[in-house]
Amino acid sequence: MTDQWFFEIGDGNTYGPYTLEKLQKWAAAGNLMPTHRVRNVDSTEWVIAAYVPGLELTTVAAVPEQGTPEQSSPGSLGKLVRGLGRKPKPRAGEKAGSAPAEPPDIVAMCDELLTIAFTRNASDLHIDPEENVTLIQIRVDGELETIRKLPRNLHNAVVSRYKVLSNMDIAERRLPQDGSFVYAFEEQKKKISIRAACLPTTHGERLTLRLLALETEQLTLNRLGMSKRNFDMFVKFASQNQGMILMTGPTGSGKSTTLYAALRHRLANYPGRIITVEDPVEFDIVGVAQSEVDGADKVQFTTVLRNILRSDPDVIMIGEIRDFESADIAIKAALTGHLVFSSLHTNSAAGVITRLTDMGIQPFQVAATLRLGVAQRLVKRLCSECRKPRNITAVEAAALGSPHIEGSIIYDPGKCARCNERGYRGRVGIFEMLPIDEELCRRIVAGCDEVEIADYMRDHSIPRLRDDAVDKLLAGATTLAEVHEVLNW
Ligand SMILES: [Zn+2]
Repeated sequence: MTDQWFFEIGDGNTYGPYTLEKLQKWAAAGNLMPTHRVRNVDSTEWVIAAYVPGLELTTVAAVPEQGTPEQSSPGSLGKLVRGLGRKPKPRAGEKAGSAPAEPPDIVAMCDELLTIAFTRNASDLHIDPEENVTLIQIRVDGELETIRKLPRNLHNAVVSRYKVLSNMDIAERRLPQDGSFVYAFEEQKKKISIRAACLPTTHGERLTLRLLALETEQLTLNRLGMSKRNFDMFVKFASQNQGMILMTGPTGSGKSTTLYAALRHRLANYPGRIITVEDPVEFDIVGVAQSEVDGADKVQFTTVLRNILRSDPDVIMIGEIRDFESADIAIKAALTGHLVFSSLHTNSAAGVITRLTDMGIQPFQVAATLRLGVAQRLVKRLCSECRKPRNITAVEAAALGSPHIEGSIIYDPGKCARCNERGYRGRVGIFEMLPIDEELCRRIVAGCDEVEIADYMRDHSIPRLRDDAVDKLLAGATTLAEVHEVLNW
């Protein structure tokens, strides 16, 4: 048999002929997958790469262990994307010529996409198959943006590359899969964790890569945008040895970021074991034992929680309290000398109390354990380089429920290079914090409802979400439109 081989990766092109040695190199670089097909020049029969003698190690070579330099190397950024995606036409021309076409450098292209997502501070990278193209989108500050449209025939190769990195089964294309990997951005000297989720759709597999802990060092309490009052209060309760701190807010309100920042605060300032139960783990924190459970699997979730209590932690973070069982375990943990952080679904800090009793927790148990309820939202942060000052009108002030701020300076978004012409850079949290003092404890035990708690907050001048949002508007941190969006939730 002649040592000359063709191969195809499913993009409609045939590559080669190459020597087996060259194929092995491609495989080692991750560009030739075990499921790709190869054909010897002497034969008309295509064979799965992994079945060809000399390439049977393709599987091993193409699936490097997590964290090896091979997997993490982004290669030379300048030479990335040979042709495909950016310059498909020259390649088509090459193919027409007599020289064998070079296969697209899928590895380099995938590295480049990750680098773009990282440098733009994106939270997610989406590989979305449509009928004729594959959309590559990133999510920046909560908004989706298309960064590339790839020819459809590259879709499977790109998805396969990320599936290999994530330790997913690349031969399985009909079932949803999850995975993760650590990626090193060498130029920026940063390593970040990436969680991958793959979902089959009618047009092919949809892949979402979530860039975790974009900058874990930024996950500190003083960067979240808390006012002095809220910051001092949060730190005070997060520094105690027992009790329960519950966050609330809709999905994407930044509550898990705050929880992680709280854990990092504990880690930096207090000795003790910290354990988390999450669905899914969103940030990796060195020094914290994080366990991931499937929240939909109630039995598993409860079992893991119980086991964790037996392993003697000092601080426990439960991703979300969603039913009586998880609430009950959180309460028991808080009653037995643990500090418990968690979140639940409700609208306001006051709602935390009633949500727990609605789940079946006794009011006296809530009063005995809950120390702080925190509601959070996120608004886009104005770019301070190009924001444009103006006076708030009487109508606008009245619409906010704050007629007395008429004439105060607020800011509209501008456009400049610093913010990519978007007018905004990053986001800032809006908070409402309700500390549970003795008086409130008595009212909780007496079975007070949410209206009564709201009255209590007003009587004690506890700032609501609205107040914090207006403060941030007047401080020039965000815009009127963003504030309205928050208040409409
Ligand atoms: Zn700007």
